[in-house]
Amino acid sequence: MYGGIEAGGTKFVCAVSDEGVIVEKISIPTTAPEETLKQVFDFFDQYELEAMGIGSFGPIGIDKSTDSYGYVLATPKKGWTNYNFLGSIKDHYDIPVAWTTDVNAAAYGELLKGAAIGKKSCIYLTVGTGIGAGVVIDGNIFSGIAHPEMGHIWVKRHPDDTYEGTCPYHKDCLEGLAAGPSIEARTGIKGQDLPQDHPVWDMQAFYIAQALVNYTLTLAPEKIILGGGVMNQDHLLHKIRQQFVELMGGYMETPPVSEYIVRWGLPNESGIIGSLLLAEHELAQTK
Ligand code: ADP
Ligand code: ZN
Repeated sequence: MYGGIEAGGTKFVCAVSDEGVIVEKISIPTTAPEETLKQVFDFFDQYELEAMGIGSFGPIGIDKSTDSYGYVLATPKKGWTNYNFLGSIKDHYDIPVAWTTDVNAAAYGELLKGAAIGKKSCIYLTVGTGIGAGVVIDGNIFSGIAHPEMGHIWVKRHPDDTYEGTCPYHKDCLEGLAAGPSIEARTGIKGQDLPQDHPVWDMQAFYIAQALVNYTLTLAPEKIILGGGVMNQDHLLHKIRQQFVELMGGYMETPPVSEYIVRWGLPNESGIIGSLLLAEHELAQTK
């Protein structure tokens, strides 16, 4: 049996799988680390786990050669900055534990079981409270000095956009201009309640499409998968595809855009399914 944790800023989803099937799944509100972990342990203690996989909100330390490996780094989430998340789990369970970001786990889940089945590479981009992306290349999660932070890239400003941006670090980076909170900050209306013909959707599409062009030009993945609350807007996906084609300007050949830029194949479950698959992968690696 494998254990998976999709650790988010608002909730932790914990699940146990047996032979590829989820046997139990629970959701725990994210509060103080010790309090949340206590509930995590209460849940997993019921099972004999062979390995675990964690896809965590970040940023997180993923370089095994540094002291911050396994830690949650500079997060606005109270109590979690510099928390040794992986260490706490490993102190409690003496089993192999895979450790990566929530979006990396989602990308991995989508590659093996979701919208990118049969591919070797994909990017998973979430547009929700924040913007983040996970990258799988040649079947493996990509990381270098750190995990990529593809939500904080620079984008060209839309000519009609005067909004300063919500990112506490950069103000008008991609996340600052196109994550869910920016929609509400511009209009006073939450994305889910904003009419489809509102001009802010064109700005959203313009920014997200720029990001996808940049990702395509730098990494050339076989598929780009979009998830997160804001991507529940079907018309937005359509606008993003149109803008992508326009901004690419015919320069690089990609698969037809309706096949290349797609919605998630495992709605709301990419992260937890990916975490469980990573647990399995981790065990195989250590054998
Ligand atoms: P989180 O990123 O916290 O995991 P979500 O992916 O649900 O959670 O993102 C929440 C953000 O997405 C909020 O800013 C919310 O207003 C926005 N959002 C949620 N549902 C929709 C929707 N149907 N259309 C547009 N925006 C939405
Ligand atoms: Zn930023």
